[in-house]
Amino acid sequence: MNKSLLPDDVAAYIARTFVNESPILAKIRVETAEMPEAGMQISADQGLFLAMLVKLVGAKHALEVGVFTGYSSTVVAQALPADGTLVACDLSEEFTSKARRFWQEAGLQNKIQLRLGPGIETLDALLAEGKRFDFAFIDADKPNYCGYFERAVQLVRAGGLIAVDNTLWSGKVSDSADLSEGTVAIRQLNEMVAADPRVEACLVPIGDGLTLARKL
Ligand code: CA
Repeated sequence: MNKSLLPDDVAAYIARTFVNESPILAKIRVETAEMPEAGMQISADQGLFLAMLVKLVGAKHALEVGVFTGYSSTVVAQALPADGTLVACDLSEEFTSKARRFWQEAGLQNKIQLRLGPGIETLDALLAEGKRFDFAFIDADKPNYCGYFERAVQLVRAGGLIAVDNTLWSGKVSDSADLSEGTVAIRQLNEMVAADPRVEACLVPIGDGLTLARKL
């Protein structure tokens, strides 16, 4: 899962005090842990936080960019009301076939619509279709983060929320000597969000950092 920036003992304290994963979420975590890409999964306490945000916003229609094996989409879809919907976007047939199996097992298959393809193209299509969302979670390829955010701002209603994951990037954002592609892309995203007059924003140091932008 995303490595926490907290000291290990503090992260463990939070986990044992607040985290009590449902059987399906525990199963997704265990099966994903065997994959080399397991670090892409959000932490369990982030899952609790996302579910709380979805409920606080009163979200009915949610958007996710970057599905991976389905942990966050399962969390978000379960936090939506019974008639809520989640549009889940990803490029990978391999990863999302696992996600689809978990959604089925959680009884969420009718609540989640998977859109396979390059994220930018999918978001442009959603804009062209006139789709609107109350909540968006972005957790995909970092070089496209600014492009995803720009489209999410247009897709989310006033008062809606955009959450972007990995925005502290293991702390590398603060190391001015780090000019690697991912680090530069995340710095650009944070600066873009902070300066965007269409939103009010903050960065919560949960997991690997979660940038929140509330649309005005
Ligand atoms: Ca992530």
